[in-house]
Amino acid sequence: MAHIDTILVQASNGSDDAKTGAVSTPLYFSTAFRHPGLGESTGFDYARLQTPTRAILEKQLAVLEHGSDGFAVSSGMAAIDLLFSSLMHSGENFVSSDDLYGGSFRYFDDIAKKDNVSYTLWDGQDEQALADKINDKTQLLWLETPSNPTMKIIDIKKCAEVAHKKNPNIIVAVDNTFLSPIFQNPIDDGADVVVHSATKYLGGHNDILAGAVITKSHDLGEIIDYNLVTRGQVLDPFSCWLLLRSLKTLHLRMARHDSNGRFLAKHLPKFAGVDKVLYPGLGGMLSFYLADGYDTDKFLKGLKVFSFAESLGGAESLITIPSIQTHHDMSQERRDQLGITDNLVRVSAGLEDQDDLLADLKQAIKGAKV
Ligand SMILES: *Cc1c(COP(=O)(O)O)cnc(C)c1O
Repeated sequence: MAHIDTILVQASNGSDDAKTGAVSTPLYFSTAFRHPGLGESTGFDYARLQTPTRAILEKQLAVLEHGSDGFAVSSGMAAIDLLFSSLMHSGENFVSSDDLYGGSFRYFDDIAKKDNVSYTLWDGQDEQALADKINDKTQLLWLETPSNPTMKIIDIKKCAEVAHKKNPNIIVAVDNTFLSPIFQNPIDDGADVVVHSATKYLGGHNDILAGAVITKSHDLGEIIDYNLVTRGQVLDPFSCWLLLRSLKTLHLRMARHDSNGRFLAKHLPKFAGVDKVLYPGLGGMLSFYLADGYDTDKFLKGLKVFSFAESLGGAESLITIPSIQTHHDMSQERRDQLGITDNLVRVSAGLEDQDDLLADLKQAIKGAKV
C-alpha cells in the first residue's frame, strides 16, 4: 500500500477516467440521476442517498482512518448526532471522558433530557476507574484526546481494552479532530468508530463546515448509513469537493501545525505573564494560563497575527477563550474542576512563520500587564 502522503494527494485522480480523464475531482451538483430502466440504477438515485463527489470523499475518509465505511456530514455536531442517534436508545447509558468540546457536553445534556439517555463522566486517565463506570446499560465509550481544552492525552488502546473486556459489544468512539489521522489512528488502537469535526484540520482553511464518521466494520457502517439516509444531514457536493481538495495537503499542513505548536509550547513558558503551558507533546493545539496581573481582554485586543475567534485547525492562527466561547454552556462548577478559568487561553497554531507567531504572543502579553 502507498504511503499516506501519496494516498492524500492522489485521492480521486482516475475516478473520471472513462469520461474525461480529469485529474481533479469531478463536482456533480445534480440531485437526481436518470435511471437506465425500471429497477436499474447507475449507482446514484437521489442526492440524500449518495452523490458521486461525496462517494469519492467518503472512500478517502475511510482509507485515511483505516476503517471500512466513511460518512461525510454537514458539521462535526451532525457527525456526533449521527453516531449517537444511530446507537443509543432510551434507558441506555454511555461513559465519556470529562474534558471535551463544549458542544459535545451540550449535546449530551440535551439527549439526557429529551431521550432518556444517561451519561457518566470519567477523568480519562485512570483505566481502573473506567472499568467501574461501565455497567450493563453502557452501550458506548466516548473519548476525545488530547482532551479539550486542557490537552491531556488519553490512552485509547488501554481504554478500548478495558471497555471491550467488560463487554465486547461496547462501541468505543473517538473524536479525532485535534490530531487528525496523520498523528492518530484510533481504529488501529482498538476503537470501533472515529468522528471528526472536518471544519478543523481536515478542512484546514477556516472555510468549510463539515463532519465525518468512520466505522471499523461494515456492519456498523450499515446502521449509520440507514440513519444518515433517514435523517439527511449529508454534506453538500461543493463542500465535499472543497474537503477533498483540502485533504491533498493534510500531511504538509499537519507537519507545520505540529512544528509551530512545539515551538510555541517550548518558548511560551519563558515569558513573564504566562503561568503554565498545557501541551500534549504533539500537534498544533496548546493552552496557557495568563498570570495574575495580566488582563485577558487587553491581551486579545493587542494581537496582530493571531485572530481572536472560536475555531481551530486552519491555516490562520486563532486564539480562543474556552470559558466564554467553546465551553460557556458548561456549569461553573464543572469548569472550575477542569481548570477552565477565565485566564485560560487556547491557541491553534496555524501555518505562519513560527517566529512571527511567538513575537505576536510576546508583545500582546507584554501589553496586557495592568
Ligand atoms: C468543533 C468541534 C466539534 C464540533 O464540530 P462542528 O463542525 O463545529 O459542528 C466537535 N469536536 C471537536 C473536538 C471540535 O473541535
